[in-house]
Amino acid sequence: MAVALVPHVRLRQGAQLGVHGLGERGGVRHGAKGSGVRGIPDGDSVIAAPIGPTYDPGLMPTPVKTIAVIGAGTMGSGIALTAAQAGIAAVQIDSNPAQLEKAKAYHAKTLARAVEKGKMQQADADAALKRICYVGSMAEAKAADWAVEAATENVEVKKRIFREMQATFPANAVLATNTSSISITDLASAVGADAHRVIGMHFFNPVPIMALVEVIKGIATSDETTQRTIDLAIAMGKTPVPANDRAGFVSNRVLMPMINEAFHAWMGGVAKPEDIDQIMKLGCNFPMGPLRLADFIGLDVCHDIMMVLYRELGDQKFFPCPLLRQLVQAGRLGDKSGRGVFEYARK
Ligand code: NAD
Repeated sequence: MAVALVPHVRLRQGAQLGVHGLGERGGVRHGAKGSGVRGIPDGDSVIAAPIGPTYDPGLMPTPVKTIAVIGAGTMGSGIALTAAQAGIAAVQIDSNPAQLEKAKAYHAKTLARAVEKGKMQQADADAALKRICYVGSMAEAKAADWAVEAATENVEVKKRIFREMQATFPANAVLATNTSSISITDLASAVGADAHRVIGMHFFNPVPIMALVEVIKGIATSDETTQRTIDLAIAMGKTPVPANDRAGFVSNRVLMPMINEAFHAWMGGVAKPEDIDQIMKLGCNFPMGPLRLADFIGLDVCHDIMMVLYRELGDQKFFPCPLLRQLVQAGRLGDKSGRGVFEYARK
């Protein structure tokens, strides 16, 4: 299929070109800083036939001013920092004050390091830091025009958070989730008539560095919500790519079985963990071995994602390896706890 390569702004105005939103097929658009989003592949259903209010191309959405980020762990802290660096105010929310302190320290350290390395001016680092505030409840961020949930990978926890997001933020705020594997349609069911505002905005770890945002439309997600999500991802310097609403989307459906198999290979005595990683790095050109990556993601997070895949897709291959389960039970969660498969110096 022929594709049109036209500048971002022209695409925003040119609905007749068939390039608006992920709902149309085969379009390629290039956004600011060379970011882009690929059109949805032919022959797919949910995204190609959106249900709910449709996007009005005549209404240019106003740029996002304030993002509320619910969860200040590995991902939430990275999302808040990336937003602040892109000039957007970020409210970092967590029910655990210790996590807020940790996020604050991570932000200060990351920005200081960027200045030290000459990648950023001191004034820009100071300005980014000033754009982030740290609070213990959503009520303290109720004016935010965008909310992204990055809390624990548990469907009931996330549904409770979505109900609170619906009750707290303005009626036109997008309610996004950074879930790695849980159905967007299922999470959206928690907010009834507001399901059209719910979308998957799946950032990768570490957020300030990784280019991708997987954009996942639930069955009721509107074209407007999708387009605004694409625009925001691009404004944050990321490349949005669409995936359909199936457990694990693309990234974790492909990645998690590989990580799980690495644990099985270790448990089965095929090789030592460091050798498994070295083989995959040198032989398959991976920047990081699968066991090191599992520690980096968090073994608890990997476990939770695998359980969602196992339950939703009904295939035994996704069931977490007993050794992975055991490490999680022992509190060996990876980088964040100082020990997982490997040991790490305390930060
Ligand atoms: P994490 O365990 O590091 O952080 C989760 C945070 O959520 C914690 O700080 C916790 O206190 C907070 N939280 C839990 N319930 C809350 C509530 N009701 N209100 C406010 N805060 C609450 O987890 P993470 O690795 O940052 O993962 C967060 C989400 O991002 C998960 O859905 C995960 O699947 C997804 N994700 C993770 C990675 C990764 O590499 N770790 C990558 C992409 C997506």
